[in-house]
Amino acid sequence: MKKIFKRNFLRNDNKQLIIFGYKEHIEESGTELKITKGPKPHMRWNPSRQEWVTYSAERKDRTSFPPKEYCPLCPGANLNFPTEIPFKDFEVAVFPNRWASFNQNGEGVDLENIKTEPSKGECEVVVYSSDHSSTIAEMDLDRIKLLIYVWIDRYNELKNIDNVKYIMPFENRGQECGVTLHHPHGQIYAYPFIPPAIKIEAQAFNQENFLLKIMSDLEKKYYVYQNDHFIVAVPPFARYAYEVWIIPRKQVPGPWKFNDEEIESFAKAIKKVVSGYDRFLNKRCPYIMGLHASPNLDDNNFHFHVEFYPPLRHNDKPKILAGSESMAGVFIMDVLPEESSKILREYMQ
Ligand SMILES: [Zn+2]
Repeated sequence: MKKIFKRNFLRNDNKQLIIFGYKEHIEESGTELKITKGPKPHMRWNPSRQEWVTYSAERKDRTSFPPKEYCPLCPGANLNFPTEIPFKDFEVAVFPNRWASFNQNGEGVDLENIKTEPSKGECEVVVYSSDHSSTIAEMDLDRIKLLIYVWIDRYNELKNIDNVKYIMPFENRGQECGVTLHHPHGQIYAYPFIPPAIKIEAQAFNQENFLLKIMSDLEKKYYVYQNDHFIVAVPPFARYAYEVWIIPRKQVPGPWKFNDEEIESFAKAIKKVVSGYDRFLNKRCPYIMGLHASPNLDDNNFHFHVEFYPPLRHNDKPKILAGSESMAGVFIMDVLPEESSKILREYMQ
């Protein structure tokens, strides 16, 4: 494995900008962004759904759509305006989201009859590259491996924060998925509670490993790509037509358990999925991607995997979460996973 360097750069607001790379990052910084007063988010308990909702009223004041040529994630020192990254170059950069929905400034509010809490936790932005247009589909394998090491580093660091109960790296890609900045990036949310979907999933894994149970079906019938350590498949119970999961053959609670060879296989699988989606649609495929790791870093019942949801119903037709999905939580599907796995297999091999 190539050595990875990590530089902690202390910003003008006393927060850390972390630069990860195979090259040591020693460049002097250029002009930094002006210090912004962070939001003070809070949570309210929704008794109907039995779940937390987080509110950050200041978010609506965030810099609205910057002019096209202004990208806050590009290397700032090359430009005539400051950006989040005040350098000429970098490989992968991580910094706290200025408009976080969870942060350490979270303040409680007093509402009679409604349970509230400050939205403690962290929200980080992960910039994949200094190149404004290089998405995972275009990135080389070494860069995707570096990104995996960055995720592992963030799991290991963020878990030490007192009020953090769950860490989830994810990526929203494409305008259809609410992205306003096109520069390739992902996010990491460190929640002060275990999110409801993960709680249910962990309970399911405690009862039985439903992924190991269907592993041979995935291998034979539902796969879209496989290598030594991973199976990529449309799960037989998918809720989106082209939903794909990247599943390690071996049960592990999270990516922090992978050795170098497994990380290499993982990187290959990620690249196959994203570039395959793009070939399938013949354009950049929108998707929501998230890492599902165990809430407890040593939970041996959980089976780590990555889920991709392209918001599509059939071919390029958008799927809208309408009445049944939004109101009742019941997904209505047009395409069978047996069919969509066959279609995607042609593009993801
Ligand atoms: Zn950019």
